[in-house]
Amino acid sequence: MARSTGASCRVCRREGIKLFLKGSRCMGGKCTFGKRSYVPGQHGQRRIKMSDYGKQLREKQKVKRIYGILERQFRSYFQKAEKQRGITGEALLQFLERRLDNVVFRCCFASSRAEARQMVRHNFIRINGKKVNIPSFLVKKGDIVKIKADEKGIKRIAQTLKENKDRGVSKWIQLDEEKLTATVSELPKREDVAFPIDEQLIVELYSK
Ligand code: SF4
Repeated sequence: MARSTGASCRVCRREGIKLFLKGSRCMGGKCTFGKRSYVPGQHGQRRIKMSDYGKQLREKQKVKRIYGILERQFRSYFQKAEKQRGITGEALLQFLERRLDNVVFRCCFASSRAEARQMVRHNFIRINGKKVNIPSFLVKKGDIVKIKADEKGIKRIAQTLKENKDRGVSKWIQLDEEKLTATVSELPKREDVAFPIDEQLIVELYSK
């Protein structure tokens, strides 16, 4: 499955914000963002006034990179969001949040979305008792997400959960730490996405 690759830290510098793409490394002193927070490349330290189009484009790129998806799939989420009732930008974020790799990340079973995606691809996840290994699978209300692994795998994931719990499990997910099981108690709302995102800029970009 196509996915976003490339140097994660460069991506943070490009977007001018910490996107937390590398899990625990992003929390400690190894994060390079503070040391070189300017745009990568030869002219990265120049100050350039951004046009409205530039702002819209950067916001779209930022969100794509947070969720680790490529243009084609991102646009297809937007097209689906447009067909939903209500506010298109919020519906777009809800689709992104409902992705299985994001849910695994939001449960703190993985320290980054990239790690969560790998867990899904490697058959660690069951939804309502059935194996699902598609990171873009969209969960729905009432779905039960369970970890399935051998003893070593369970220990490792339990440890990851312990280390990442401070990040906070999303409110729309009910986590049973003992059983490494999570229930989607409701669909995510706009306020559940705490990261600074101006989704209206993305709507404006795609509506041109
Ligand atoms: Fe971004 Fe810092 Fe994490 Fe690198 S370590 S991906 S710069 S937040």
